[in-house]
Amino acid sequence: MSEPDVIVVGGGLHGCSTALHLAMRGVRALVLEKDHIGRHASGVNAGGVRQLGRHAAEVPLSVASMALWHGIRDLVDDDCGFESHGQLKVAETEAELDSCRDRAAQLAALGFTHEEVVDQAELRRLVPSIAEHCLGALVSRRDGAAIPYRTTFAFKRKAESLGARFHEGAAVARVARSGRNWRVETADGAAHEAPVLVNCAGAWADRLAAQLGEPVPLEVIAPMLMITARVPPFLKPVVGATGRTLSFKQFPNGTVLIGGGLLGRAYRDENRTDLDFANVTTNARTVWDLFPIMRSATIVRAWAGIEARMPDDIPVIGPSGTEEGVFHAFGFSAHGFQLGPIVGRITADLITRGATDLPIDAFRIQRFRHTAAAA
Ligand SMILES: Cc1cc2nc3c(=O)[nH]c(=O)nc-3n(C[C@H](O)[C@H](O)[C@H](O)COP(=O)(O)OP(=O)(O)OC[C@H]3O[C@@H](n4cnc5c(N)ncnc54)[C@H](O)[C@@H]3O)c2cc1C
Repeated sequence: MSEPDVIVVGGGLHGCSTALHLAMRGVRALVLEKDHIGRHASGVNAGGVRQLGRHAAEVPLSVASMALWHGIRDLVDDDCGFESHGQLKVAETEAELDSCRDRAAQLAALGFTHEEVVDQAELRRLVPSIAEHCLGALVSRRDGAAIPYRTTFAFKRKAESLGARFHEGAAVARVARSGRNWRVETADGAAHEAPVLVNCAGAWADRLAAQLGEPVPLEVIAPMLMITARVPPFLKPVVGATGRTLSFKQFPNGTVLIGGGLLGRAYRDENRTDLDFANVTTNARTVWDLFPIMRSATIVRAWAGIEARMPDDIPVIGPSGTEEGVFHAFGFSAHGFQLGPIVGRITADLITRGATDLPIDAFRIQRFRHTAAAA
């Protein structure tokens, strides 16, 4: 079998998206995944496709990714279950509504107008079932949600149809220089070589970075979600809260997904998570307060995924600071699903053109040089 041009470590959405964008340019990628495609964060997340509330550094990428989401069928031959009914963050007090106004003004000053403040009447029009005490919201109308597992698979399938290859059950154990190539050995004894290596290893990416001589202070976290039995349709947009942790949406089949980032416990060496029931209760209490209609709903399942968080809550994207021919895309800090389509394109741009049109300086791995060395 011929050797690839690029080896991608990690078969989550970012690895699959990188392989797709490379394949679209005729560059042959081999994706090595230790478990199976979409097994971790990319397959079990809330599917939120959100520009709303992004860190300023992420906004240009998020806006560019949103354009790809709105044409997702053209990109991957599948609509990925993407629906765009907007996302909003509810304000429960005047102070929260003021913070929404400040945020919209800050973004407008940067030239972005996708976040707007709406009053109580418009909030009630968008979300008729919201609790009466809510005063308004910050809204991003083109946001929405998709089905995570289906999305990750659609990227994989399209990449494969264009020539990318995927090996599942292939845990990368060691990477080393071999002349002009990278030699990548997997735990089952196989070895592959390519001139370019991409680290899309999610919550395990710090281990690969450390082998490359650039340790990073990556924290492994376990964001939790829960889902209810079907209830009659009452909600279209995805709803969050300004002053509390919440992400709340109803699927077309009537089930309601509740999350927002409260954490359980992650054990990455065992591919396992535990729920934190105190945090599950806090999440449920928020829903009880904001959506009285949900007080009789039944939670049927809850789970947590394994995700990487960086200390500044923004990812690492870009070339290695120590090695030629190595690129990183990890540390998405519980909001990387929406960025999947664009980050794959950025990484493919960096590999094939040596540059990207989007601003990625804030995501350089070198920003952790001193903190990681001190640790
Ligand atoms: C519960 C939950 C809810 C979330 N909700 C949202 C949301 O609504 N919106 C949003 O934008 N984001 C959300 N996120 C975040 C989003 O899911 C992640 O940021 C994104 O999926 C990260 O993708 P990834 O490809 O970097 O990582 P992953 O999907 O974790 O993929 C990395 C892959 O690398 C593999 N790997 C690791 N080490 C090796 C190795 N040595 N050899 C081979 N393979 C290896 C792993 O097995 C894994 O499959 C949520 C996350 C969770 C957990």
